[in-house]
Amino acid sequence: MNHATVRVQYGMAQFVEQCAAHGYAGVSVWGAEVEKVGFATARSMIADHGLFVFGYNRAGPLMGPDFHRKDEAMDAARREIDRAAEIGADHVMLFPGGFVSGEKDLSGARQRFAEMAKVLLDHAKTAGIRLALEPLHPMLVGDRTCMGTLRHANDLCDRLGEGTGIVVDAHHVWWDEALEPEIARAGAADRILAFHVNDWLLPTRHRLTDRGMMGDGIIDLKGMWRSILGAGYDGPLEVEIFSEDWWAEPGDRVLEIAMQRCREIFDGDTDA
Ligand code: ZN
Repeated sequence: MNHATVRVQYGMAQFVEQCAAHGYAGVSVWGAEVEKVGFATARSMIADHGLFVFGYNRAGPLMGPDFHRKDEAMDAARREIDRAAEIGADHVMLFPGGFVSGEKDLSGARQRFAEMAKVLLDHAKTAGIRLALEPLHPMLVGDRTCMGTLRHANDLCDRLGEGTGIVVDAHHVWWDEALEPEIARAGAADRILAFHVNDWLLPTRHRLTDRGMMGDGIIDLKGMWRSILGAGYDGPLEVEIFSEDWWAEPGDRVLEIAMQRCREIFDGDTDA
């Protein structure tokens, strides 16, 4: 369970407690929330509840309107990578960020991101943690990322080499005609780090905060899960829903429904 799903309802302690109570096996965490209780406390809190830390959010944004402060952004990203390793996460999300103010150069942004990722990869290797690339929906390109497809993420991983991997997020990639071959390609390279589950609602009223609960939208989640398993992935499912609607619900109801839907859709394989 990704903390963002219930970030409005729960601080770190309650989040961990409630996830354990609802039968989740692990949590994905956000640095800002962990910081509120302290890294050492969060780490033991999670361990005491028998949970593991899956994803750590996040290193970045690296670019965006404040790109003139690139060195600061890189230092901050290095710090987050260290913290991700410190809390024992499986992988750390690398978040590119959007365009520099006034820029219109997408290929330039891609090149810059690749170069920055290369530098951070060396740091992540030293810290002993994998760097996760997550392609976002193309409507977020320019605003939050320069990487809008699995193919782009796969190409970048080929270029960067060992120590990088891909997070497949249903909401971001479900529409892609190359979804299956690119999942297979990522699997063949043993680089699928996580599968984020949620759904695409019709209509989707907001690009960032109107994700659906699994089963409420139009994504063939079962089919996607089969492709991912078929590509050799043997990790957990991760529930990640940014939604004003679900943030307005009691947290325990959200956790309960999410678990129920996972059981229904993913054939009881709910190692989330
Ligand atoms: Zn995601």
